[in-house]
Amino acid sequence: MVKIDVLFHGFPGKASNTFLGWSTIVLLRREKRLCLVDTGGHGARLWLLQALKDRGLHPNDVDSVFLTHLHFDHIANVSLFPRAMFYLGQVEWEYANTVEDPVVQEGVLPLLRAFKKTLLKKDGEEVLPGVSFLLTPGHTPGSASLLVDEGIKTAISGDAIKNRVELATGNVGMTQAAEVSRKSVEKVKALAARVLPGHDCALRLEGGRVVPEGDNTITITLPDGITIGGGNVVDLRLDR
Ligand SMILES: [Zn+2]
Repeated sequence: MVKIDVLFHGFPGKASNTFLGWSTIVLLRREKRLCLVDTGGHGARLWLLQALKDRGLHPNDVDSVFLTHLHFDHIANVSLFPRAMFYLGQVEWEYANTVEDPVVQEGVLPLLRAFKKTLLKKDGEEVLPGVSFLLTPGHTPGSASLLVDEGIKTAISGDAIKNRVELATGNVGMTQAAEVSRKSVEKVKALAARVLPGHDCALRLEGGRVVPEGDNTITITLPDGITIGGGNVVDLRLDR
């Protein structure tokens, strides 16, 4: 059985002057195999290393890395895993290498050219036993998800579905093709009972309802003497 371990929960917030880019990082374990799904943004680098360390792991222990797509907030830490086999969709790879998309982290592309890679083409191709590739385009032409069978079918969707609102409504923001994205959301809903989105906590599908699992609170601490709204700590809590 595959075990899903969320190392870093994505967060759907934006700031007024930047895109936070806090994206979900997942570790899949099956027997001795360790597969990371996405590597997060650069800001997550120390947290990712710590999360691995907390589990008694070194980046070299990760034998494979699946990339849902090639935007900067999902691939900034590719360099930590030079020994891994990288899995990604062929369409996404070709897209990132031929189309100028400022959100693709181009500095990582030369690394990915040098690293071991398996380019996936069609639904059902296996990344690990019990873990299969699913094309979910829209956000980018080659955006892809993984379908994981851990008793309950879970889709790790990257930014094909970024958050609970997109899963509930099918209205996907920051997409290159809204109708294509909507179809991808429907495809995931037809196959999975649980979704780990690119920028939110785990979500369960219960009779058409989207139910968040667990908490998704982030605390921002400001230096003493700097205040916002009368306090020096701001809690960002998602409404359920
Ligand atoms: Zn993202």
